[in-house]
Amino acid sequence: MRAFIQHERAPAKREVSFRAVTAAPTPLPTADAAPRDLRALLPDELTAWVKAAGEPAYRAEQIFRWLHGRGVETLDGMTNVPASLRTALEQAHPLTPLAQDVVQTAHDGTRKLRFRTHDGRAIEAVLIPDEDAARNKLTLCVSSQVGCAIDCAFCATATLGFGRNLTPGEIVQQIYEATARAGRRPTNLVFMGMGEPLHNLDNVVRAFTLLIHPWGAGFSPRRITVSTAGLVPGIAALGQLSPAPNLAISLNATTDEVRDDLMPINRKWPIAELMRAARAFPLGHGRKVTFEYVLLAGVNDSDADAERLPRLIKGLPAMINIIPWNPFAGPRFKRPSAERIRTFQEILRKHDVQTYIRTPRGDDIDAACGQLAVRGRPDLVPAPRKPRRTAPDLDRPGDADPSQASTWPPPAPTTN
Ligand code: SAH
Repeated sequence: MRAFIQHERAPAKREVSFRAVTAAPTPLPTADAAPRDLRALLPDELTAWVKAAGEPAYRAEQIFRWLHGRGVETLDGMTNVPASLRTALEQAHPLTPLAQDVVQTAHDGTRKLRFRTHDGRAIEAVLIPDEDAARNKLTLCVSSQVGCAIDCAFCATATLGFGRNLTPGEIVQQIYEATARAGRRPTNLVFMGMGEPLHNLDNVVRAFTLLIHPWGAGFSPRRITVSTAGLVPGIAALGQLSPAPNLAISLNATTDEVRDDLMPINRKWPIAELMRAARAFPLGHGRKVTFEYVLLAGVNDSDADAERLPRLIKGLPAMINIIPWNPFAGPRFKRPSAERIRTFQEILRKHDVQTYIRTPRGDDIDAACGQLAVRGRPDLVPAPRKPRRTAPDLDRPGDADPSQASTWPPPAPTTN
């Protein structure tokens, strides 16, 4: 039997400090802030380095293609790059590895990939083939942080607490490793794995920039979706990018009272402010904002909720993804009945809202939305976190209690 974590929820009134994410956004990190990992260097930065090393500029393109087009793990494979240049690069910008560890396959073909970071943290990404094979769609759900600081009451990742931000290199490596594992490139990338992408804005933006560059993987920005719990300044910063990714917002409630309780971040940026940010997000032709709505029985699934939702998004090109709650041990929630889910959707449809029910994918291996918490094998269960008394202090990311982070190798499982 799995030793699941029984965690206590923090009290309803939580102290929230989100100053870090209200700071003036930097849409594109400057060269000064460039991390040293070679994989994190943007084409311009790589070109500048190559030139400074006395090599022709085209070397930058060659190197970038190896790293981001072919997804090489080491510099050894760069056969058309002189050995002396490889050695110099290795010294100036060592590659930080992300080791693929465990792969689990669900009955529906969904695969959960677990990775180990260089400093022993565990993170997960999920490969989700379309249920309709004819569509040939393959979605990859990637993580942006080790654990998460946002503390949504219904989410398994929240039980880990906050570990650290993933680097741009670690973010893109999830995609390259998953591509190698799947034998094909994902058609869609969604930042809906562990973590809050807009709490790691610079690194996520840098990863996005690397992923869409034609020298590398060359993803269309329209095939990349960043999902947020509602960090309003981050949404504005994302909207300043050109091109920008798709925006998804985890709304999950139609009143501040309920949302405050489910998502402490709502105390900082309540629904009205969140909707203002959504409306200000620039949408290109045919683009829509996706609203995710985790359906929780008796909490946010009433007819009144379904009637309020269309009013909230009125006039906004939007669609609503209803996500029936995926269970994990611990919290007080229940998934609504199939009948309730259908009725909820019918009310939305009656108001001409475009809406889908996201069927749980990979839930038999804890790979479905909100289930990523580095579990699934008894020997890989992380330590249960201490119940927090206050919401996390996002001003000092990285200062999180290390005992609450996901570590590697994980400590022995706790039995209930
Ligand atoms: N932090 C980001 C991305 C990660 S969560 C965000 O909040 O959007 C990805 C999606 O999973 C969110 O829409 C979230 O509301 C949903 N989710 C979290 N826990 C869930 C659960 N147990 N069941 C179903 N959906 C869940």
